[in-house]
Amino acid sequence: MPDPLRRETAPVPAGRRGAYLVVLVLLPFAALAAGVAVAWEDGVGPRDLAIAAVLYVVNIFGISVGYHRLLTHRAFRCRRFLRVGLAVAGGLALEGPVSLWAAEHRRHHKYADRPGDPHSPWAYGDSGFALVRGLLHAQIGWFSSARRRSLREHWVPDLLADPDIRRLDRAYPAVVVLSFALPAAAGGLLSLSWTGALTALFWGGLVRYAVVHHVTWSVNSVAHMFGGQEFRTRDRSTNVRWVAMLTLGEGWHNWHHAEPTSARHGVLRGQHDASAWLIRRFERLGWAYDVRWPDPERVAARRTHREAALTDGLAK
Ligand SMILES: [Zn+2]
Ligand SMILES: [Zn+2]
Repeated sequence: MPDPLRRETAPVPAGRRGAYLVVLVLLPFAALAAGVAVAWEDGVGPRDLAIAAVLYVVNIFGISVGYHRLLTHRAFRCRRFLRVGLAVAGGLALEGPVSLWAAEHRRHHKYADRPGDPHSPWAYGDSGFALVRGLLHAQIGWFSSARRRSLREHWVPDLLADPDIRRLDRAYPAVVVLSFALPAAAGGLLSLSWTGALTALFWGGLVRYAVVHHVTWSVNSVAHMFGGQEFRTRDRSTNVRWVAMLTLGEGWHNWHHAEPTSARHGVLRGQHDASAWLIRRFERLGWAYDVRWPDPERVAARRTHREAALTDGLAK
């Protein structure tokens, strides 16, 4: 391993790798399989579907706007209540405490698709079986196979210096409990029954977290392998419309790698970016400020085809 990488990472104890295997790989798979089986047998009630959908949107916005654009890339600044609220919403997605998430992600940007990237789908090579193996590695494999994790002191000293973030990191176990307690409570209260609490816990808790995970991880796998590359970058990031729809804007990953601090990822006409829309709403309310909206000249300069840059419109 190159020396800088050794300094930038820390070993993961075997026990922790086992825990990652259960929580990030096996349990979501089991939840998805059970979800398909139960839906096939009994269907899903509208109440459970609504609870799961609300939590899905809160989670994805929490990851995209909170964990990713605000805290990892500093694409905007905002009022304290909003920063904490977005971080809690991201925490409810059960993708780890924000400082660890941001540390892994900043390392991904530094080494994107090169040795040192924690989750490149090109890690095993460019052909046949190596690509399938790479996609699995980028989707979920790296959680349990990685022997080293990004060292937070190296990658996110700014977050560790923030008392609110330190408190949120410490409170992460409570957020995990909340992520299951909320749907159960909502189901119980809306149906006034224990059965209602249980089915909501299943759909709004277990199945929702599995779906949120796989949707988020598809940015790491699919949006580094399939789709268009409208912008010049040093990596193999791509723009994938269906991933962008499911992730509320994160699938416009090619522009994101071209300019990681941009608050908007879908910068071309027709590239809908719900997370950018939400940040704009926050800005209008005066809750968000110093928003780094993309500069049309920089967007045009990064286009892979200069003539396309001159004729295409930009997203507003
Ligand atoms: Zn990427
Ligand atoms: Zn990023």
